[in-house]
Formats: sequence, C-alpha cells, structure tokens
Amino acid sequence: MDQGGIMNLVEARNLARELMDRHGLTDWKFEYDDAKRRAGMCHYARRRISLSAPLTSVYDEGEVRDTVLHEVAHALAGSAAGHGAEWRAKAREIGCSGLRYVDPGAPTLDGPWIGVCPRGHRATRFRRPGAPMSCRRCGGGAKTFEPSHLVAWTYRGHDAAMGERYERELRAMCVQFGVEVSVEPGTEERIARAAASGRALVVEPLDLSVLDLEEPASDVPAGDRWRSPVSRG
Ligand SMILES: [Zn+2]
Ligand SMILES: [Zn+2]
Repeated sequence: MDQGGIMNLVEARNLARELMDRHGLTDWKFEYDDAKRRAGMCHYARRRISLSAPLTSVYDEGEVRDTVLHEVAHALAGSAAGHGAEWRAKAREIGCSGLRYVDPGAPTLDGPWIGVCPRGHRATRFRRPGAPMSCRRCGGGAKTFEPSHLVAWTYRGHDAAMGERYERELRAMCVQFGVEVSVEPGTEERIARAAASGRALVVEPLDLSVLDLEEPASDVPAGDRWRSPVSRG
C-alpha cells in the first residue's frame, strides 16, 4: 500500500479493522454501505461501524483513518454524546481530527469527468463515458438519444481521449450529420449544431444513451481507481 495514496476497499477495511481492534472494539463488526453524502456511520445497537464504499474509494489513507476514528469515537463515547464535548474529547484522545465528514475539504462525489450540453447543462461522472450521450434535460426528460443535445466531455478540466467505442460512434455521427470527421474537442458541438439545423444525411440507428444532466451522476467507482485517460494530443 502506498502510504497516503487512495486506498482500495480491501486496504480500507483492513485499516478500519485494525483501528477498531486497537481501541477495544474487537466485538464490533465492520461493513460497507452505499451512502453518498456521509463517509461513515456508527450503528450503536448493532455494534457495527460502516463506511461509505463510494466515498471510501475516493479517500486517501489519512481520510479513511480519520473517518474510522470519528466512528470509533462515537462507539466509545456512546450515542447520547452526539458530536458534543464528550465525543470531541474521545476523538482527540484517539487521534481523530474531530472533523465531520463529509466536510467541504474532503473529496466529493463530483466525478472528474464533466459533461456539458450545448445549452450549458452540466453533469459529472466518475467513469469515462463509453458512448456519446445527449442531455435528457434538453430532451424534456425523454430517454431517446437526441444528437442536437449532444454532451461534450472534459476530464479534470482538460480535453481527454474518449475511448475507442465513443470515438467510433462520434465519427459515425460526423458522417451522419455531414460535419468533418473528427474526434477532436469541439466535434460534439459541431454535431449538435448540425443536428439542430436538421442536417442528418442517413438515419442509421445508433446504440446511444441519454444522460440525465439534472442529477449528479450516480455511478461511482466500484473500489477501483479512476483511470487516467491518455491526452488527446
Ligand atoms: Zn459523527
Ligand atoms: Zn441540456
């Protein structure tokens, strides 16, 4: 395990177990949950501490450790203590920062992939989109792919390679809408403009998906790390 790096869920579970045992919670169980807005939870009655699997998989070791210690302090201080003085004293005693996760400085579930539609609706994703997507909001909520609402993507604010299938389908759409065949940045916008002006040349149905830009994307890494795409160059 690289110290301080992002932990995988097995490493995080081992760390949690080690910290729980060290502070006397040997008869407490550890588990993961699917929470997206809180990092950890202390289930007093069930004698269980759980961590959010989606959040844990974006936390580094220090953040996982602090989150576990936060919950261990809850277990030791008891439910009545809440986040009051008794809990804070216990948290400090065992080396917890006393921060409450999710705090504004901690990683959020805003994915590194940012998609923007021609009208400026925005969504984020953790994984690289596998195929071109259209904005569902612009489509009035319909689940049909609409090329004039095509979403353009960046990775951490930069243009990025979109992967083989995505680029293949994008090229096909270029042909379909009579724009220069390309996968360079700006292609999605050109296709969307051409589609909006009704320039479709062929009506070859493509297997494309619709993206609901109203809601933050709910797909989260399943314990693995974000893949760094190769720059489009
Ligand atoms: Zn708490
Ligand atoms: Zn839109």
